[in-house]
Amino acid sequence: MVSEHTAILAKYLELPQKGKVMAEYVWIDADGECRSKCKTLDKKPSSAEDLPEWNFDGSSTGQAPGHDSDVYLRPVAIYPDPFRKGDNIIVLSECWNNDGTPNKFNHRHECAKLMKAHADEKVWFGIEQEYTLFDEFGKPYAWPKGGFPAPQGPYYCGVGAGKVNARDVIEAHYRACLYAGVNISGINAEVMPSQWEFQVGPCEGIKMADELWIARYLLQRAAEEFGVKISFHPKPLTGDWNGAGCHTNVSTEAMRVAGGMKHIEAALSKLAKRHKEHLLLYGSDNDQRLTGRHETASMEAFSSGVANRGASVRIPRSVAKEGYGYFEDRRPASNIDPYLVTGIMVETICGPIPDADMSKEFARETSD
Ligand code: ADP
Ligand code: MN
Ligand code: MN
Ligand code: MN
Repeated sequence: MVSEHTAILAKYLELPQKGKVMAEYVWIDADGECRSKCKTLDKKPSSAEDLPEWNFDGSSTGQAPGHDSDVYLRPVAIYPDPFRKGDNIIVLSECWNNDGTPNKFNHRHECAKLMKAHADEKVWFGIEQEYTLFDEFGKPYAWPKGGFPAPQGPYYCGVGAGKVNARDVIEAHYRACLYAGVNISGINAEVMPSQWEFQVGPCEGIKMADELWIARYLLQRAAEEFGVKISFHPKPLTGDWNGAGCHTNVSTEAMRVAGGMKHIEAALSKLAKRHKEHLLLYGSDNDQRLTGRHETASMEAFSSGVANRGASVRIPRSVAKEGYGYFEDRRPASNIDPYLVTGIMVETICGPIPDADMSKEFARETSD
């Protein structure tokens, strides 16, 4: 929280780093939350490949048993650090086990293989991350003490006191994302008071999930300074309050050019056939959100429609009019692992990893 500590800290922030670089390694734990720890480097790396592998105690994060607790961090992408600035960086890392297998909660590895196998289809994603702010006592942020705000209506994209809360936290996060080079495409206040959304994308392939995870890290980290808690739960409050989702917008190159609508329709019929399989990867407690109310479709059956916010998948009106573009999968919950969601999306609409590729991969891995 802002205090006299801030003023005291300021004088230390001016101290020269003597050429050293602080690298904050970020990874995803067993609960789908970010964890991080910092390493001093002798010089600024130019890419993730320049960075050393590192490790942490997986028994403290639910990622490994106590008797074999080392989990390895393999750097996969680097971003300028908006908190420390200068040459300091944030290092997105994959988690690997001691025996050379990907950690159980490392869903990036499989996703990256799928994205690589279908790289020539140039799949783009745009994810709309909804989330809810809570105060230090676990109450929705800035809600009236001992009561409830007026019913939903004025809050979505609201302007003015009593309609929006925590604009300072949201602004800090937005600017942190821009500084880090995250492809954040916008923000808006949501339907429930103290619920907000940011969008990342369009991003091609594996970059979508990488950048969404970094944007989540930056949000938790910025909100920490304000003493505000971030919840990614899809139904943080019961009652007549909207839940939180991660609408996933998708297009292949073929969908984005004239005649693209037939490719969108083909994708939708493939999605309809795997509705249940997709839902299994679309976030926990999503059944509390996908009720058929509050701008959601029920979980029971797959549906799609132009401009229909009560369907599983919406085709934006402008896309229907032009005959090409993208579609929006409205089913994913706010707490998804985007590696799982973008991974199964590509598997369903572009196909599984072809055998030929798998054997090539295998040959490469065993030959070196
Ligand atoms: P909504 O109208 O559902 O609230 P938003 O504007 O919040 O939509 O989010 C739409 C997202 O879709 C943005 O992240 C945007 O970058 C992304 N997007 C736009 N065009 C494409 C495309 N062709 N393929 C994939 N994603 C796209
Ligand atoms: Mn949106
Ligand atoms: Mn929204
Ligand atoms: Mn949407």
